Amino acid sequence: MRVAITRPAKQVDKQNIEWMGVFGGTFDPIHYGHLRPAQDVLEQLGLTRIHFIPCYQPVHRGIPQVSSTQRAQMVKLAIADQPAFVFDSTELDRQGPSYMVDTLTRLKQRFPAAGLVLMMGVDAFAKFLHWHQWQRILTLANIAIMHRPGEQLPDTGELADLLAKRQVRVFSQPAGQLLDLAVTQLDLSATQIRDLIQHNHPIDGLVPSAVQDFIYTNKLYQKDSYGIKCSN
Ligand code: ATP
Repeated sequence: MRVAITRPAKQVDKQNIEWMGVFGGTFDPIHYGHLRPAQDVLEQLGLTRIHFIPCYQPVHRGIPQVSSTQRAQMVKLAIADQPAFVFDSTELDRQGPSYMVDTLTRLKQRFPAAGLVLMMGVDAFAKFLHWHQWQRILTLANIAIMHRPGEQLPDTGELADLLAKRQVRVFSQPAGQLLDLAVTQLDLSATQIRDLIQHNHPIDGLVPSAVQDFIYTNKLYQKDSYGIKCSN
């Protein structure tokens, strides 16, 4: 695993807005490539908290390898020691396809005074124009784009045009702005972790130890279980 550590510098002009992070993912499983960049975003943007929202049914990728209950349990274990990281079951409770626009609408109802900061890696942002009702997402939240090893922000095309129009260095409005953040670069993915387990290689240091214990206790991602896709 390649690591490059970033030094946090606060970038948000708070404008008396309480900013909260919204971090959705498949988390199959959650790993330090999610957790360390999330900590950077928390500090750099001065967020009061980050909601970790495991999806129920991903809409932009294949079916997860383990159940939503198991993915949720791993998220809970991973964030247990960081009080600013909050487990959020919005998408699990709603069931069906996990459209972020629906999740943000619900969060706006629950936290009307908060500014929502939707967090995503550059790879996820690259597909943003395919997200369900992406224009409406920009009326509900700002987006923090986390740098990720091997991934670049687009410099041509419609997404580059969107960046040119909406990219800022500091969030100054409650929604519609894009900001890219040089978070700690961990060349790590859930795919990589699943492959390591499948081939009986250690995953020490790649996920929190409580998550690692959960994976081994429940025999997740092992060769015998691989290929048995879990719809939920
Ligand atoms: P998989 O390998 O199964 O595709 P993943 O590791 O990319 O999974 P997801 O749960 O799909 O993890 O990602 C949730 C969010 O976290 C996405 O926005 C993704 O871009 C971001 N993310 C995942 N890993 C990293 C990383 N190493 N650095 C920065 N962002 C990351």
